[in-house]
Amino acid sequence: MDLIEVASMRVATSRADLALAPGEAVLGGGTWLFSEPQPEVRGLVDLAGLDWEPVTDLPGGRLSIAATCTLAQLRDAAPLFGAAASVVEHCVDALLGSWKIHRIATVGGNICLALPAGPMTSLASGLGATAVVWTPDGGERRIPVAEFVTGVRATLLEPGEVLRTIEFPATPAWVSHRRASLAPLGRSAVLLLARHDDAGFTLTVTASTPSPRVLAFPSLPEVGDLSAAIGTIVDWYDDAHGAPDWRRAMTLRLAEELRAEAAS
Ligand SMILES: Cc1cc2nc3c(=O)[nH]c(=O)nc-3n(C[C@H](O)[C@H](O)[C@H](O)COP(=O)(O)OP(=O)(O)OC[C@H]3O[C@@H](n4cnc5c(N)ncnc54)[C@H](O)[C@@H]3O)c2cc1C
Repeated sequence: MDLIEVASMRVATSRADLALAPGEAVLGGGTWLFSEPQPEVRGLVDLAGLDWEPVTDLPGGRLSIAATCTLAQLRDAAPLFGAAASVVEHCVDALLGSWKIHRIATVGGNICLALPAGPMTSLASGLGATAVVWTPDGGERRIPVAEFVTGVRATLLEPGEVLRTIEFPATPAWVSHRRASLAPLGRSAVLLLARHDDAGFTLTVTASTPSPRVLAFPSLPEVGDLSAAIGTIVDWYDDAHGAPDWRRAMTLRLAEELRAEAAS
């Protein structure tokens, strides 16, 4: 779609270029920005020119995924995630776009857009990743992705801030996921990630809630403890992709499947 209010377009090649003028927005892949009118946006600053390395190994088995890493590049890097490789692939596939969309849409754009069905938010929050944010004064701040996304189309990004990278901790010994949607090729209505290791059992609920909900247990919980923890969630998401009571019921059912899988 033509963005008729946009009067300027810059390609950032250095951090200094990320000083945003009033009305300027950063451009990741543009798969959302160009999909609907953007009456507030007067200029675009393309992050592609920064040429950030999409995937970088960090000490201790950690991985840094640049905000500009495309979904296709992330899928190619899935083996680096070890036990979480198939979960990475499933989360990429959960964005039901064509290969053309996957080759352009970025991990950072998906998280910053902050849709409940944002599969990169699901993946990053479910694996305990940290958002590294560049601030306009030249500094940076680090926020767990599960806290970075605060609601529907809402994040902790302040004006002028840019998501630089997402740092993933070493993959836990066991990770699995469950996903549900109303139609076989429908948008995610529930997307759960569970991880289990020496640190305990963590269930991250996404898509059925406006923002990620992390339920952590010191060890594998009993059925009742897990359902009681899910019962503390009160704001089930409601849109055309699923009614709140159905999302709650599916979350309970799929969470129990994950608990049983971890126990087996
Ligand atoms: C067929 C199709 C299916 C889709 N399905 C889904 C889906 O299931 N779930 C879903 O969540 N989305 C979906 N989308 C929407 C969108 O394509 C994705 O969310 C995509 O990942 C957005 O990434 P992008 O790089 O294209 O973001 P852009 O469109 O470039 O940007 C999105 C927003 O994030 C901001 N932004 C981008 N990068 C940064 C950064 N590094 N720092 C700060 N702000 C930034 C932009 O300013 C903009 O406000 C779909 C789109 C299509 C076309």
